[in-house]
Order: sequence, then C-alpha cells, then structure tokens
Amino acid sequence: MAQTIGFIGLGNMGGPMAANLVKAGHTVRGFDLVPASLEAARAEGITVAGSALAAAEGADVVITMLPAGRHVVEVWTQLAAALPAGTLLIDSSTVDVESARKAHALAEAQGCLSVDAPVSGGTGGAKAGTLTFMAGGAEAAFAKAEPLLKAMGKNVFHCGDAGAGQAAKICNNMILGISMIGVSEAFALGEKLGLSHQALYDVASVSSGQCWSLTTYCPVPGPVPTSPANNGYKPGFAAALMLKDLRLAQAAALASGAATPLGAEAAQVYGLFEGAGHGGEDFSAIINMLRGQGGE
Ligand code: NAD
Repeated sequence: MAQTIGFIGLGNMGGPMAANLVKAGHTVRGFDLVPASLEAARAEGITVAGSALAAAEGADVVITMLPAGRHVVEVWTQLAAALPAGTLLIDSSTVDVESARKAHALAEAQGCLSVDAPVSGGTGGAKAGTLTFMAGGAEAAFAKAEPLLKAMGKNVFHCGDAGAGQAAKICNNMILGISMIGVSEAFALGEKLGLSHQALYDVASVSSGQCWSLTTYCPVPGPVPTSPANNGYKPGFAAALMLKDLRLAQAAALASGAATPLGAEAAQVYGLFEGAGHGGEDFSAIINMLRGQGGE
C-alpha cells in the first residue's frame, strides 16, 4: 500500500534508500542539512522540505538515517512531540544501543510506534535495494515497518525488543573487524614465509580459516577480483566507519560488563590506522599497517 513517508538524512545511504521508496510507489518528503543532498534527492522524485518537522508532518511513517546517536535523539525529540499518536518512527542509522533505547522511549511516551533498524550492505546495497536490516522494537511496530524495509533491502530480521537491531549490528561488525585483522595478519605472515597469496587463499578458503573477510573481501589483490584490494583499497566500507562501529561495541561492552578483549584490540588497531590518516581507505587496507606500511 502506498504510504507517505518523511525521510530525514539524505546522505550517502539515506539518499538512495529514499529513492528506492519512491520507486516502490510511496510519496517521500525528505530533509537534510546539506543543500547538495536535497538537490540530489529532488532529482530522484523526493519532495524536498524545509525542516525535519515539515518533512514529517502528515506522514504515516518517518525514517531517519543520520550520523550518530546524538543526532537521532535530537531529531526524534522534535518529531515525537509533534506527530500524532500511532505514527511509526524508524531509525536506520548505526548508533549506540543506549541512544537507540532512548529514542524508543521518546516515541513511546508520545504514543508513537518505533523501530531501530540499522543496515549492513553499504552504499552499493543502498543503491541496489539489497541492504540487510536488523530490527528491534515491538511486534506491532515491526509488522508495520517490514514492507517498507523490504522496499529498501533484501533481508529483514526482527532481532528482539528496543535496541536489539543496534545490538545485532555492532556484534556482527565486531566479528568483521576482528576477522579482517586476523586474515590480514595471516597474509602478512605468509608473505614473510614466502607463501603466495593464491596458495594461502586456496587452502584457507576451504579449510577452518574460511570466513567472509577471506572469501568475499580478501585484503590482498588477486584471489577475489571484486574485493577493494584490487581497486587501490577504495571503499567499500571505510576504515573510519569500521572504527565507529568497533567503538560502539566497546561502549556497549563496558556498559553491559561483557568481556571483548579482541574487540578492544581491534578498536585500537583501527584507531591507529585512522590516526595515521587512513580513515578514508577501505577497512581491508589494515593489512598495509600490519606489514609495517601505512601506520606511520
Ligand atoms: P552521511 O554523512 O553521508 O549522511 C548523513 C546525513 O545526515 C548527512 O547528509 C547530514 O547532512 C545529515 N544530517 C545530520 N544531522 C541532520 C539533521 N539534524 N537533520 C537532517 N539531516 C541531518 O552518512 P551515511 O554514510 O549516509 O551514513 C548514515 C548512517 O548509516 C550512519 O549512522 C552510518 O554509520 C550508517 N551506515 C553507513 C554505511 C556506509 O557504508 N556509508 C553502512 C552501514 C551503515
């Protein structure tokens, strides 16, 4: 059923996601602080509004796709106070679990439905409409959100109550950060031992070292031709975003008392990499620092 959707945050991810909602036949009113993003959205058939509230006014559903938790809480505070009870609010940004739960509470206090629904799949997935959504929130809210999420993505999971989507996202990305460092260390050691990249790949990809960081996103050029290593480590998934997610995982580990020593180490390694000026490179470029290059 065609709906009217307010979309706040039309950046690298939000712009193409909103465009896919238009393609699915919905009426989308968008807002962003950056004029260039508004222009790009207009070209995709999104009606541009002068403020977040103007974009949300009269909408059945409002979606936010913003940089961090403080932006989400700020925008949801305005929205929840102004929108009629029953309006559905969805946040697809990657934020800390605490902010996600705070945003849910703001919505609930005003009688709005709410879902945290962060994504995996990057800008390529956002454009192609193949994102994976991991959602948290009440059953009724998720049921209302699901058809819209399916218009922007391929896999949609309801992970549990408020904040469960963000929890799933940071746990997954902590696995990814740690496994990429592990695979990169193995290639760097193999190089010192005179082992070819292809030989290590052939063995590990069908052995117990097999993982996504090796077989889909191999950090050395050659074995997986589509990985960013074959393209000068152009992102892909930027190291700065990996660092953001690893730090969110560390904040959650500290708050919940979970022991994540390798997650902590991975955050430190990516922190050094970003500090040396490599935050804009794909996160698989971490292999260069482990080889003693690029960590200067
Ligand atoms: P982005 O910086 O390109 O877009 C964020 C947009 O929000 C910007 O255009 C900014 O102007 C806008 N914004 C900030 N405050 C605002 C406000 N108060 N009102 C309206 N607009 C406001 O970032 P992105 O790459 O689109 O990422 C968005 C979120 O998705 C982040 O939380 C990020 O961690 C997450 N994410 C990104 C990727 C990726 O590959 N880029 C992948 C998965 C998840």
